[in-house]
Amino acid sequence: MRRFRAEWVLPVSGAPLRHAGVTVDGGRIVAIDAEPVADAEDLGRVALIPGLVNAHTHLELSYLRGQIPPAATFTEWVRPVLRARGALTDPEAPEVRQAVRAAIVEARATGTVAVGDITNTRVTAPLLAEAQMPALLFLELMGFAAPDPDARVQAARQALAAEPVRPGVRWTLAPHAPYSVSPALFRAIRADLDASAESRSSVHLGESPEEVALLATGTGGWRHLLEDMGMWTGAWTPPGCSPVAYLADLGFLQRDVLVVHGVQCDGADLNRLRALDATLVSCPRSNAWVGVGAPPLEAAYAAGVRVAFGTDSLASVADLNLGADLRLARALAPRVPARFLLESATLNGARALGLNHDLGTIDVGRRAELLMVRVPTGVTDVEEYVVSGMTPADLAWLPGSSSAESAF
Ligand SMILES: [Zn+2]
Repeated sequence: MRRFRAEWVLPVSGAPLRHAGVTVDGGRIVAIDAEPVADAEDLGRVALIPGLVNAHTHLELSYLRGQIPPAATFTEWVRPVLRARGALTDPEAPEVRQAVRAAIVEARATGTVAVGDITNTRVTAPLLAEAQMPALLFLELMGFAAPDPDARVQAARQALAAEPVRPGVRWTLAPHAPYSVSPALFRAIRADLDASAESRSSVHLGESPEEVALLATGTGGWRHLLEDMGMWTGAWTPPGCSPVAYLADLGFLQRDVLVVHGVQCDGADLNRLRALDATLVSCPRSNAWVGVGAPPLEAAYAAGVRVAFGTDSLASVADLNLGADLRLARALAPRVPARFLLESATLNGARALGLNHDLGTIDVGRRAELLMVRVPTGVTDVEEYVVSGMTPADLAWLPGSSSAESAF
């Protein structure tokens, strides 16, 4: 058993505590000490916060770090990504695996305790398990003109059935996006999820103005790109509504879907997400990189939408430091209370990934995967400092936590 005391404890599930501490036993929090205990190890002028949860990334794309330049429009960004992915002959090549390992190291070093990871190749699963990084992996399905959606879903399930059981790694299925998945494939995935023990899923939605144009009128940059790739089909008719309305009406959007991006959401879309109780996963640095604009964070919080954060992949962001997304979110949403932003980066992500019984808050029974944030003298609003000022140099994992002791 180890007792720690800190200048601040930010449990996320409750108000900040000053001059408080935690007692840890067997890797779990066994007590929150509102008064410092005499024999506790003094951590000094730090704030203890839960480890951050990166609810949306694509670790398998880490080998593209620095390869894909920022673009003025989304399809301009996508084209070189498609070329690079097409040129990769072996998705399990040593350089791909090495880039994933380095990305996990970087994520952990910058305060990430768990990830929601999108994969097409399944190459990340053994590497996440090896690194002891808890993850919900989304095996992603695409098929805008897929002739047999049920067979596609079945094949994905068979691939997952062949995956070894790995501690800390769970699987589910996820459709990619409205411009790459047919309505029939969305329905087939929904039917499969409804029949599965793990019904969480994820979808890229409302990311670019080009996606909005495609769904509204069947025109624009995505139409051109689909035609160029030979994937356009006259069988698809534009629904004539917003991306959120489209997938809500299709029955795909439900409570446990992570709606990733939502940059193009208007007030009606946000109200719909709130009514569905879905989680909006915002990746603000990626949005800027791919030229789609800034996410409507003030409006999302005002509408009562549950927001979580992700970095997205290293093809659209400079690093996997989720704190940098938190900082940009704060700049984009100056009126949102700091506590809500911190909750988004911890508890909301953990909850969206089904990890909130272990992670996301500082509570008795949770794993003691806690960050010590060094707080400079003069700072009095510690929650504000964490969301707007914290840098990786301020961070260290609580001694004894597995994040601190992992060889990774
Ligand atoms: Zn993504």
